[in-house]
Amino acid sequence: MRVRCPHCDEGLKTQPDKLDPAPLDGPMPVLAQCPNPFCGWGGKLGVQVTRTTKPSRSAAATETATP
Ligand SMILES: [Zn+2]
Repeated sequence: MRVRCPHCDEGLKTQPDKLDPAPLDGPMPVLAQCPNPFCGWGGKLGVQVTRTTKPSRSAAATETATP
């Protein structure tokens, strides 16, 4: 996933926020850091599933396995 810095448009470095675990029904927190030495912006992103476009194969297998 490529996310751009809101200030300098550089590609942000991202990592899951281990200190702030994802809530059950909310977006997954991700820490972002701009690698541009002239910018250095840091922030927190929220990644969330908004729609399933292709169901998981494991979910489909579970559904067919149950009577
Ligand atoms: Zn930046």
